[in-house]
Amino acid sequence: MEHNGINFDTYFRNYPDKNGYFGRYGGSYIPEELQKAMAEITDAYYTICKSGRFISELRRIRKEFQGRPTPISHLERLSNSIGRVQLYAKREDLNHTGAHKLNHCMGEALLAKYMGKKKVIAETGAGQHGVALATAAAYFGLECDIYMGAVDIKKQAPNVARMKILGANVVEVTDGLQTLKEAVDAAFAAYSREYRDCIYCIGSVLGPHPFPMMVRDFQSIVGIEAREQFTEMTGELPDAVVACVGGGSNAMGMFSGFLNDPVEIYGVEPLGRGEKLGDHAASLKYGTEGVMHGFNSIMLKDENGEPAPVYSVASGLDYPSSGPEHAFLHDIGRVKYDVVNDDDTIDAFFKLSRLEGIIPAIESSHAVAYAIKLAQQMERGSILINLSGRGDKDMDYIIEKYGIR
Ligand SMILES: *Cc1c(COP(=O)(O)O)cnc(C)c1O
Repeated sequence: MEHNGINFDTYFRNYPDKNGYFGRYGGSYIPEELQKAMAEITDAYYTICKSGRFISELRRIRKEFQGRPTPISHLERLSNSIGRVQLYAKREDLNHTGAHKLNHCMGEALLAKYMGKKKVIAETGAGQHGVALATAAAYFGLECDIYMGAVDIKKQAPNVARMKILGANVVEVTDGLQTLKEAVDAAFAAYSREYRDCIYCIGSVLGPHPFPMMVRDFQSIVGIEAREQFTEMTGELPDAVVACVGGGSNAMGMFSGFLNDPVEIYGVEPLGRGEKLGDHAASLKYGTEGVMHGFNSIMLKDENGEPAPVYSVASGLDYPSSGPEHAFLHDIGRVKYDVVNDDDTIDAFFKLSRLEGIIPAIESSHAVAYAIKLAQQMERGSILINLSGRGDKDMDYIIEKYGIR
C-alpha cells in the first residue's frame, strides 16, 4: 500500500535508514564517546536480535513469563451504550506487571545478556519504566541502576519500593529541578562512564538511534498479535485503531501491525487542562522541530528553546516530545494525531470500569476516551483500542482527586 509516496509494503526495511532517520526525524545527537557505545548496540541488534536463538528465546519468555499473547476483548456493553460501532480492546493490561512496557524491557535485557553485559541502566520519571526494567533485570540476573529525581522519588514511593524489592539500585538525582530531565542527564553521564559493562535501556521509542527502531520492533508483537486475533474474531480488519502517545511505544507497537492496511490510525495526545503551554503535553499538535535527549523530532519548547514544562493527568504521558517515527507518520499523514483532555479521560476511566469490569491506566483512558468520541461520529464499523495498561497504580490518585463516582 502507498501513502503520500511512501511504500508501506517495504516500509520496515527502509525506515529508519541506516543512520536512524525516519525522513528528517531521528538520528543520533550525542557526545562522541557515546557514539561508539550506540554503534556497538546497533551492531549487536542487527546480528544478535535477528538470530534464530534470540528470537526463539524471546518467544518462549513472552509465553511462559509474560503471559502472551494477551487477548482482545469485545467491549460489548460500552459499544451498546454509544450506538452501533463496535469497540474492542487489546489487553496489554494483562501483560505481566500490568502494562506494555515489559515487552521492550525483556528484549533490551535479553540483548544485554547476549552481549555479555552485567548491568542495565535507565532513568525513570513516574517509575513505570524503572519497575519494568527492574523486573527484566531480576529475571535475567542482571544488575540494575535506575536514576530518578529526588522529587519523583518522594512522589512515587510505591514504585520506588517495587524497584527495590526487585533488587534494583535506585539512584537519587539531586541536580536542578530533581525530576525526569535531570534523571536523563545523570543516567547518560553514568552510561558514558560504564558503557563497557552495561547497556542503557530507553523506556519508549525515543533517544538516539537505534532505540526508536529497537523499541518499536520489540513492541511490534502487540500489533502482530492484534491483527491476527482481530481478523480471527471478526473475519475482517478493524476500521480504526487507536492508541495513546506519550513517547509513543505502545502506539508504535500497535500501529506497526496496521500501517500497510486500509485502516484509519489515530494517536491520542494528552490535552491536560487546556491549550496553554505548560497545561498539556500534546507535542505533535503544538510543538516544533528540534533536538533533545539525543534525537530530532517535534517538541514543545520554552522561550529559550529548551524542553518546555508539560502536564497531563497521566504521568506516563507528560513528555515534551514524541518518538521520531511519530513525527514522520504525522508529517506524511498516515497516522492522524489528536488530543483528549483530562476531564474526558477521567469520564472514560469510570465508563470502562463500570461497563466492562476493566480498570484502565489513566494513560490508556485517553485512547478509550478518543475511541468513544470517534464511535459517536461513525455510523457503523469497528474500533480497536490499545489498552496499554491497568489502573491499579492510579487508584490512590483517582480516589484523592476525583473521589469514587
Ligand atoms: C508509560 C505508559 C504509557 C506511555 O508510554 P508510550 O511509550 O507512549 O507507550 C502509556 N500507557 C501506560 C500504561 C504506560 O505505563
